[in-house]
Order: sequence, then structure tokens, then C-alpha cells
Amino acid sequence: MYGRIHSFQSLGTVDGPGVRFVVFLQGCNLRCAYCHNPDTWSLTAGAKFSLQTVLERIRRFKPYFGECGGVTVSGGEPLLQWEFVAELFKNLQEERIHTALDTSGTGNLKGANEVLKYTDLVLCDLKFSTAEEYNCYCRADMNKVLSFIKLTEKMQIPLWVRHVIVSGLNDNPARLQHIVKIANHFSNLQKLELLPFRKICSSKYEDLKIPFAFKDYEEFPDSKIDELYGAISLSPRDV
Ligand code: SF4
Repeated sequence: MYGRIHSFQSLGTVDGPGVRFVVFLQGCNLRCAYCHNPDTWSLTAGAKFSLQTVLERIRRFKPYFGECGGVTVSGGEPLLQWEFVAELFKNLQEERIHTALDTSGTGNLKGANEVLKYTDLVLCDLKFSTAEEYNCYCRADMNKVLSFIKLTEKMQIPLWVRHVIVSGLNDNPARLQHIVKIANHFSNLQKLELLPFRKICSSKYEDLKIPFAFKDYEEFPDSKIDELYGAISLSPRDV
């Protein structure tokens, strides 16, 4: 079995708990206006790696995972390659390595169900609070995202919801409360993470000759993220 992979990050610390080996899968079905990985969009770029090769790479870093680290599969959209992710996670769980799925939640539910059987933690984006904004800024169906999150709740898989903040678009605390309300609805929610919009990806868009839809928006300052957590009475760590 093969996966089409964009890249690996061996000692990641921002995509799930502890020190993590992150597998970025190639291919995405969305086109988020603030995406910082447009190089993962193509379904045919990247390189094919066998399951065994990926497992061998991961095993080399097992000593660094400690108590709470492990492996995160991100993208792109990992659920586009759900067969590969399910098999990878199954093998990792057999080796007692923690598995986290970082997804937009828009893949097909049958495939998601297979992956979730072997998933210890889900990191799911809740990009906007209305179906109109989802469609406008991501070309995505919000109902699919909510159905996916409901499935994680049904399967009682710990959930972290992630939400990117863009100045002048969704940094208003009142708007943010809508996201908090939607996320809090799910009993498996462990954490709501606010992530600042960044433009470090601008050169990727230039190299790929793809227009960067949010190129005129300012980067969102880290200090204001803390203010937003305060404004919505939310700790960055827990809900
Ligand atoms: S789902 Fe992720 S990788 Fe895909 S377009 Fe959106 S931000 Fe980019």
C-alpha cells in the first residue's frame, strides 16, 4: 500500500500533544483563501511512499515521543487517502504510538469512519461559523464538517477544534462566540485552538503562480490571540 506524501516533519510541536512526527499528505479538495500550504493542493504532486517505508521512518523517532507525543497525519486533506491513513494508524496503534488526525473534516464519512477506528485524537478545523462563509472562503460544505465532528463525538474520540483568525474578517469576539458555541456543542471537545493568520506562505503562491486570495490581509499578531482568548473567556489550553 502506498500514500502520496508532500513531506515529513520529524519533531513537530504544534500539531497535537508532545513531540510528534508529522506526515503531510499530498492533495486537498478545498481551496481556503488563507491556506498556507497551496503546494499540497495538487492530487498528483508529492511522492509515493510505501506504508512500510513510512512506518520505518516513524520508528526512528519513537524515543522522542515520550509520554504524550506520537504521530500526526495532516495535509492537504488526509481523508482523501483514508485507506492509507487507516492502515498507517492501525499499525501505529499496534505499536502503542499515539495517532492524531489533522483534517478539515470534509472527506467522505465512510472513509473517515475507518480512519477514526484507529485515531486517538482528532484536530478538526472549524474555519467559519456559517455555511455561506465556508462556501465563499473555502469552497467547502459546512454540513460535511459538522457531520464529521458528530461522528467523532459518536465514536468518543477526543477532539481539538482549530480556528484561524484573520484581522478584519473574523477577529470580532462576538463572531468568535459563534465558533465557541458550535464547538462546545460537542461532548468530546477537549480544546479550542485559535491560530493566527500568517503570510509566510506568500512565496509558495508566487512559485506556483497561484493568486493568494488573502495577500492583502495583515498577519494576525500573537499578542492579540491571547486577548481574544480572554475576551471569549477561554483558556488556550482547555475548554
Ligand atoms: S483544508 Fe487545509 S490544506 Fe486544504 S486548502 Fe484549506 S487550509 Fe489549505
